[in-house]
Amino acid sequence: MTPSHLLTTDGPAEPVVPLLLDSPHSGFDFPDDFGAIASEFDLRDGEDSFIDELYRPATERGLMLLAARFPRTYLDPNRHRGDIDLDLIEGGAWPDELAPSGKAPIGKALLWRTLDDGRPIYDRTLPVAEVQGRIARCHTPYHQTLQRWIASTHERFGASWHINCHSMNAVAGTQGEGGAGSERADIVLGDRDGSTCAPGFTAIVREVLVGMGYQVKVNDPYKGVELVRAYSNPALRRHSLQLEINKRLYMDESTRLRHAGYESLQKNLMTLIDVLLDYTQAEVKRA
Ligand SMILES: [Zn+2]
Repeated sequence: MTPSHLLTTDGPAEPVVPLLLDSPHSGFDFPDDFGAIASEFDLRDGEDSFIDELYRPATERGLMLLAARFPRTYLDPNRHRGDIDLDLIEGGAWPDELAPSGKAPIGKALLWRTLDDGRPIYDRTLPVAEVQGRIARCHTPYHQTLQRWIASTHERFGASWHINCHSMNAVAGTQGEGGAGSERADIVLGDRDGSTCAPGFTAIVREVLVGMGYQVKVNDPYKGVELVRAYSNPALRRHSLQLEINKRLYMDESTRLRHAGYESLQKNLMTLIDVLLDYTQAEVKRA
């Protein structure tokens, strides 16, 4: 049950509120065996900088917060473990389950092959055992922890609400979702076209954020991927929603430093969390 040193788990050890958070892409502890040719600075372009820190005050409100410490470009936990890019595998064959998401052609399967601008991350293919090792050390404990948290929350409250926390570059790269050069909204919510949470949950998050003055889009261009899909089931009151924040709201993408907007964004996010705590606790009682 001990979380791997490749993850951080914050907040209470057992659920005390029906709402929980995870941040799969904010890590930047570069493992020694990465073996990439791209520089760490370039590799960090794939990262959702500061997202775990932005949400950390929520743990003082009783929320559990799971965050990856390994970089997203090393392994993306927001992918199915079988989402293997065969072009990156030595010999081009994979012995375990294959579950392609369609992201391999843009280099963004479970292990990224290219940066957002299309430059290669490696000058080599990766042996099967090396990839299996990353899955065992990173993907498995991340998913097991999230799955366990959602299950224990659901067991305690009869329902669970999970926000999968991300950020996005202000403008899409050449291989970015929505097309190269497309400008992102302030916030993009993703519920995989209404399949990962009750419509009321997406609606209240949207309403609160719009009320704060943010431009909010739903399922455009991000619908949510594996972490909102894997353990959600709205019919059984297990709700997961992806929340993407535009980096321009809180950081300078070129220097990768936070700017003056960081604090007001964090304050707004905590206001959102407070509203959602009221909403989820009312929903629990309504059952
Ligand atoms: Zn992300």
